[in-house]
Amino acid sequence: MILLLIGILGLLFGSFFNVVIHRLPKKQSLSKPGSHCPQCGSAVRWVDNVPILSYIILAGRCRVCRVHIPFRYPLVEALTALGFVALYLKFGISHDFGRYVILYAFLVPLAFIDWDRKLILNNLTLPCTIIGILYILIFDIANWKTMIFGGLAGALILVVFALLGQLLFKKESMGMGDVKLLALAGIYLGFPQVLYALFLGMIIAAIYIIVGLTSKNIDRESTIPFGPFIAIGVLGQLLVGETILVWYIGLIR
Ligand SMILES: [Zn+2]
Repeated sequence: MILLLIGILGLLFGSFFNVVIHRLPKKQSLSKPGSHCPQCGSAVRWVDNVPILSYIILAGRCRVCRVHIPFRYPLVEALTALGFVALYLKFGISHDFGRYVILYAFLVPLAFIDWDRKLILNNLTLPCTIIGILYILIFDIANWKTMIFGGLAGALILVVFALLGQLLFKKESMGMGDVKLLALAGIYLGFPQVLYALFLGMIIAAIYIIVGLTSKNIDRESTIPFGPFIAIGVLGQLLVGETILVWYIGLIR
């Protein structure tokens, strides 16, 4: 029952994140006007605005002008709901669940906006950081040290990588946005978990780049936003981080 509720909540949040992803970078209001078709401008009725279900019923098209609705919309909804459910299954109703679900709720729009525009918005990183700190102060004051270390370690290691990238490739490889993003992830994950999340994200980014280069979907000049990979690394660390670590320690013994 709770599982279902969290799943539905995830879908509704995902639906809202679509609006955030679409409008926040353009500094448009998140509430007005209501959802409308970008092609014909007709308002989306509430029956056609049910997460995922409406997309399936309308076969991915606007009811009025039949233009294709990007698959992105149900994808964001599904990813949000699945993330919420997975975090609940892993942590149950707990302070950890509360904290990680908040983090994930910020990571979804952050990652998609970065993917689209190579932009990590302060409008999202700043509130997420503040909420993370408040959460520790209110619910988890005993762990304040790991939060500070996590945030500092996250920021510091990416600053080092950014400087190294500058030296090696003579171009900006990582921006301040990435530094802020990993710093806030560190506040939520603590130390050393934030580093595991980073390494996991880097491995997945490397795989993406290798596959992309060999399949010629990207070339050497492409800039690849790192934010989405940090987000994947964070979720991966939260859900299966321990499992990977145990496996890895078994491997090197
Ligand atoms: Zn339309």
